[in-house]
Amino acid sequence: MSSVKVESVVKVNAMIGEGPVWEESEQTLLFVDIIGQKIHRWSPTTNQIQSVETGDTVGFAVPRSSGGYVAGVGRSIVAVDWSTQKMTSLVDLDEDKPNNRLNNGKVDPVGRLLAGTMRKEEEQMERKEGALFSVTSDLKVTKHLSQVSISNGMDWSLDQRTLFYIDSLALTVDAFDYNVNTGHLGNRRVVYHLEEGEGLPDGMTLDAAGRLWVACYNGGRVINIDPATGVRLQTIPLPVTKTTSCCFGGPDYSDLFVTTASLALDQSEIRQQPLAGNTFKVTGLGVKGRPSHSFSG
Ligand code: CA
Repeated sequence: MSSVKVESVVKVNAMIGEGPVWEESEQTLLFVDIIGQKIHRWSPTTNQIQSVETGDTVGFAVPRSSGGYVAGVGRSIVAVDWSTQKMTSLVDLDEDKPNNRLNNGKVDPVGRLLAGTMRKEEEQMERKEGALFSVTSDLKVTKHLSQVSISNGMDWSLDQRTLFYIDSLALTVDAFDYNVNTGHLGNRRVVYHLEEGEGLPDGMTLDAAGRLWVACYNGGRVINIDPATGVRLQTIPLPVTKTTSCCFGGPDYSDLFVTTASLALDQSEIRQQPLAGNTFKVTGLGVKGRPSHSFSG
């Protein structure tokens, strides 16, 4: 039996740490602080953190195959040159919704970027003004879903024919049939409904065995779900409540990195969870993840 170990490895106390991506070529972990308006890159070997200020909320940052990154800053998809810290806007989304911002984004198996949006103000998220878009290499934008509350976790099945998707306030992990050639989504269904005490489903990743690891915001845990049966196989408790997202990484993809948030904790909560906002490493899970994809644009 493996023994699971959870440790705080990136001590950034992010306001909302999110969007972890393992960069195989650099052996580094890329992640964002959405409200802290920063993109961070952490090296486990040197324990050094490099950061770029984005000047507005940043929902995600992902590698770009032509070099650097693309990030979701405010409502814009921007190209980020890491060495010069220069950002260039590529395309704007939700132009008719100035109170929206980009949230989670991820690149599909053929290099298409999927990026979701949400209302900025917490008390108005139930208005479901968010959406899910795709952006192709030639910057063609398609809106796939509207009436989304908080567009969050995404990942694709091993055969690339299913997109798993989380709209957080629905409290479910959903699946769509996915056409990787066209990007078309169809046949939405619920894979898992969160139970009392599990919090809100947030970011997620699929492992090499085809199972989902879902970070539960306000649930202080990551849950492992078999999407074929809808059964929860395992719960990994963390010492902080606002667990936001996760990805596998490390030299052989056997480490699960979990981002967390410290936003809106009160004084007693901050005393109880001084590690809030740090990024954690979970080892001993006995499963491996898969490499991330780079945006082809
Ligand atoms: Ca999120």
